[in-house]
Amino acid sequence: MIRFSLVCDNAHEFESWFASNESYEFQIENDLVACPHCNSLKISKAVMAPAVARKDRGERAQKPEEVKQSVALVNDASGELRRLARELHEKIVAATVDVGEKFPDEARRIHEGEAPDRAIRGQASLEEARALLEDGVAIMPMPTLPDKRG
Ligand SMILES: [Zn+2]
Repeated sequence: MIRFSLVCDNAHEFESWFASNESYEFQIENDLVACPHCNSLKISKAVMAPAVARKDRGERAQKPEEVKQSVALVNDASGELRRLARELHEKIVAATVDVGEKFPDEARRIHEGEAPDRAIRGQASLEEARALLEDGVAIMPMPTLPDKRG
């Protein structure tokens, strides 16, 4: 069974199950699918909304602004930049405590004074990083090493 999001010519959206794509096409061509709202037989597949947009249909549902990360393309001649990036990476590693995937929670707790103020590092998804930045938690991306990802 396949579930399709459908839309009628009056822009009513609804979902329907079909045995297969062929079955869907057969039923649409033979006017066997009617809009449950207005009984229109002019049905077509709706453009699927991305999963992210469905999750928070609140005031932020429109289009969350993207958090862009600064990136640089360094060529082989810039070994000095690589060295500095590696050095900075090592310095951050040396000066921070790795909290792993607890980073978003821990960073927020430190920001709100619920956890001891200290430098931490860890993993955050783009979504989590954006939420932290929106809440004024000044996180920064770790420099990634060109020859060693992550
Ligand atoms: Zn309709």
